[in-house]
Amino acid sequence: MNDEEPPWTGVLTERLRCCVCGESTDDAPDYVLVELTGPAGGARQWFGAHAGHLNGVLGDGFRVEVHLM
Ligand SMILES: [Zn+2]
Repeated sequence: MNDEEPPWTGVLTERLRCCVCGESTDDAPDYVLVELTGPAGGARQWFGAHAGHLNGVLGDGFRVEVHLM
């Protein structure tokens, strides 16, 4: 037994700050994690956001839905 960090699984265990307003999302009921994938090579990047704020900056026709897990 040891205290080593668990292996990287590609899933973030801590909430990211909202990429729209920059505020903490620790207590946000509408927190969403946005995953962007690169066109090749499997590069991935994540953004955290409040769904309400994200909806405010998305183009027409895009809408964020929150699915509680
Ligand atoms: Zn926000």
